[in-house]
Amino acid sequence: TVVVGIPASGVGEPRSPIVGDVVKKLTALGAGVLIERGATDASFATPASLGDVAWADSTAEVVAGADVLWTINGLPADAEAQLRPGQVLMGLLQPYASAEHAQTLADAGVTAFAMELLPRISRAQSMDILSSQGAAAGYQCVLIAAARAPKFFPMLTYAAGTIRPSRVLVIGAGVAGLQAVATAKRLGAIVHGYDVRPETREQVESLGAKFVDTGVSAAGEGGYARELTDAERAQQASALAKAVAESDVVITTAAVPGRRAPLIVTRAMLDAMRPGSVVVDMAAETGGNVEGTVAGKDMRVGPARVVGPVNLPGRMPVHTSEMFARNLFNFTAPMIVDGALAIDWSDEVIAGTALTHRGRVVHDGVARALG
Ligand code: NAD
Repeated sequence: TVVVGIPASGVGEPRSPIVGDVVKKLTALGAGVLIERGATDASFATPASLGDVAWADSTAEVVAGADVLWTINGLPADAEAQLRPGQVLMGLLQPYASAEHAQTLADAGVTAFAMELLPRISRAQSMDILSSQGAAAGYQCVLIAAARAPKFFPMLTYAAGTIRPSRVLVIGAGVAGLQAVATAKRLGAIVHGYDVRPETREQVESLGAKFVDTGVSAAGEGGYARELTDAERAQQASALAKAVAESDVVITTAAVPGRRAPLIVTRAMLDAMRPGSVVVDMAAETGGNVEGTVAGKDMRVGPARVVGPVNLPGRMPVHTSEMFARNLFNFTAPMIVDGALAIDWSDEVIAGTALTHRGRVVHDGVARALG
């Protein structure tokens, strides 16, 4: 039987990629589940809720006993050193972060699937961890902004008058940004959305928000955006400056895969905001969309408050662990055939997500980016 192992996630990571529901599905496929004791405490999955699983006392024991390792962010270095050739590792492995790390995994002979690399095609949607966790992140950004704003989000009529609704601008209308738009709308704000991919206009408008048109269009490969040229960046900045200045809250979620997050909101734009304005930069961990953001900090920058939250999906680990586990199950299930591991390399979803296999870094885009 194939054993799926769940080591404890690292310090500061409350999510764990397993829930009872997914244990049942794995069991139905004939797979076994081996979990490190305590691994699910922070995600509130009790041993009773997990059902029929085996427990290990250490990460080393899980790595030794598992054929397939499910992780949130990969393994610590000492556990990685223990991996065996042919073993399968899955998680958000940050494939573009370091050439050395990719080579370490290749040298260990493991088949590593970096879930960030999953092709964005319809068939793969149920496996899409960036999407499920991104939706949670977009939602959380709005809650953070609402909790810090010195204003109501909704219009409010009270005995002595009427409060005007807050204006929220969401920059970057991918999965996270659209969820931020929807959440801000639910809280009653007047919402504007902006992105460089032209198809996002309709998506923003279908949520009842208005689209900010800067005239810049920059669709790239695979449904993602490309980096802007200097001229496009200047054009974007002059059009966005006005929209930023008119907003009470700005939420930024812009990203280009494998690159530093684009810098979009400058210090001059922040200085033109009203006192008490709130900016939440979801891209803080990858360099920031806002000038002066610091990941993990909540700071005054000119008249605004700039928040750079980290690990947003980790703030709601019950649901994000459940989504993560389901995504990994949908990705893994086709690899378990008659109780044995059988990876179909002709499947573009599987091949496209592989970072390393049989001693090599097999993902072209990553190999190219890392040189
Ligand atoms: P992402 O996290 O890479 O980027 C977030 C957003 O930032 C994107 O919408 C991007 O266009 C935008 N952006 C980049 N540079 C910008 C700039 N300079 N100014 C403003 N915005 C900028 O993207 P994502 O949310 O992971 O996904 C992008 C798109 O991929 C989705 O919206 C969707 O169309 C597609 N997608 C498809 C599937 C699927 O079919 N399986 C799944 C998920 C996403």
